[in-house]
Amino acid sequence: MPISIYDPFHTPGGALKRLPLLKAAVTFIAAVCLCLCGLLYLQLEQSRRHDVESARIASATLTRAMAQQAQDTFLQADLVLASLIDWIQIDGFGPAVQPRLQQTFARRVQSLEQLHGLFLFDKHGHWVVTSFENLHRGAGVADREYFVFHQQNASLIAHIGPAIRSRQNGEWIIPVSRRLNDQDGNFQGVLMAGIKMSYFERFFKSFSLDEQGEMALALSDGTLLARRPFDEGRIGHPLAQENIYNHALAGGMSGDALIRSAIDGVVRLYGHQHLQAYPLVVTAAMSEESILAGWHDRAFQSSLIVGLVVLGICLFGWVFVRQVRNSEKIEADLRKAQEALALIATHDSLTGLANRRLFERALDIEFGRGARQRSPLSLIMLDIDFFKHYNDAYGHVAGDHCLAEVAKVLKSCCHRKADLAVRYGGEEFAVLLPDTNLAGAMALAEQIRRSVIDKHITHSGSPTGYLTVSLGCYAFVPSSLDSIEVFIQRADAALYQAKHGGRNRVAVLSTEGGLDTLARSDR
Ligand code: GH3
Ligand code: MG
Ligand code: MG
Repeated sequence: MPISIYDPFHTPGGALKRLPLLKAAVTFIAAVCLCLCGLLYLQLEQSRRHDVESARIASATLTRAMAQQAQDTFLQADLVLASLIDWIQIDGFGPAVQPRLQQTFARRVQSLEQLHGLFLFDKHGHWVVTSFENLHRGAGVADREYFVFHQQNASLIAHIGPAIRSRQNGEWIIPVSRRLNDQDGNFQGVLMAGIKMSYFERFFKSFSLDEQGEMALALSDGTLLARRPFDEGRIGHPLAQENIYNHALAGGMSGDALIRSAIDGVVRLYGHQHLQAYPLVVTAAMSEESILAGWHDRAFQSSLIVGLVVLGICLFGWVFVRQVRNSEKIEADLRKAQEALALIATHDSLTGLANRRLFERALDIEFGRGARQRSPLSLIMLDIDFFKHYNDAYGHVAGDHCLAEVAKVLKSCCHRKADLAVRYGGEEFAVLLPDTNLAGAMALAEQIRRSVIDKHITHSGSPTGYLTVSLGCYAFVPSSLDSIEVFIQRADAALYQAKHGGRNRVAVLSTEGGLDTLARSDR
């Protein structure tokens, strides 16, 4: 707790408020660490978005290439069908033309790599002509989806059906078919070109894709036609099983989306592209893991570096905070020592009252203030009566104790902050009362005198039997011409009058009426 040294009206100026250095340092370090983490987050987020964007572009390029290849494949087969249909509708497909038809079918199949075979069925679904030399004589194809479709739909455009196993040789094929009409538009049969599923598989394999990547060709309703990796169990089933159809394929001609597969739980970037000419869609998927593999490495390295930097800053901060705390403690100790020194230099050790040095400083200040403000200044001088006898009777230690008791009285009587109680020397005390007139000083002096008596300190050497004090008061409005010495002398003169008048009393010296007059206050 700081020790107050008398100077109630004159606080040392320019005491700047200390910056809360510790708080500022901790806030600064926290802010730097937060900024670093924020920057790292922004940089990683940006780089992640960049990688995903690059993957989306790659996915769009891939699906465009796949769509083009699928379109070309089906278009070529469709052109073959269209030309043969025209021919068959003119010449019919009776036994006479069947050998020539078979040769034409076989030649066309040889000329197109993707073709598994060409098949002509009559209106009952029976085999009529195929590109194979030995005509299959099975149960027919009346149950096949494409046959039923043409039977029930008058449309003459090509129809692509779900993948099937060829009844000719068991190979997986995708049927592209057209309806055959007679002159009157009645259903006469179906011409079907089977496209090898393996043709697409080979094409799909020509692209480099991560282990969890996928490529697929499907009907626009989502029915799977071909897939990499090949999975027989899923052929013919809807892509909706994998969540892809609902999320991506259903919208727009092309697009992409990050979707978690309902089947294997892997998150992939699915790109899709619908074909312009046919109700088909292609999809290509890359796993998010492969897309972000490079990013994960970079993120790990950046996080490690930033983590080390943050750790370094925190360590530095810790050392700095410790240093600041230490120096603050040293500073506080120093301040305490300075205050203690100041106290020793300005106060009396026995009584704790101000000493003469502080008294003189206070007098200087109060003289100046009184002169400026034209306010009265009072001084009470106090001397213990027959104190020599007290020492003789009770010893010096008791005498010292007695001095401390009188000091306590002075302290308790000085209520205002500006009042200053002083041990003037030996067993003499002074009370400086700024802004106080003679009546006020007299009242206080009388209060002190009575308080000392009320202490009932036995004093065998005093006629009263108790310790008493004599007090002299002086009051005036100081001017710049007045001297401090004269001020003290006059109060001292009043004290002398009190002693001379018989002790245990208050005497007053005032300047009223232009002459010094003496007032007395007996018990
Ligand atoms: P009076 O003032 O009534 O005329 O009589 P007195 O006996 O008090 O006379 P004087 O003022 O001359 O005596 C002062 C005495 O105070 C002298 C000294 O023994 C004693 N004294 C001064 N300083 C101290 C102090 O610090 N401790 C003690 N115990 N006594 C002190
Ligand atoms: Mg004395
Ligand atoms: Mg005395």
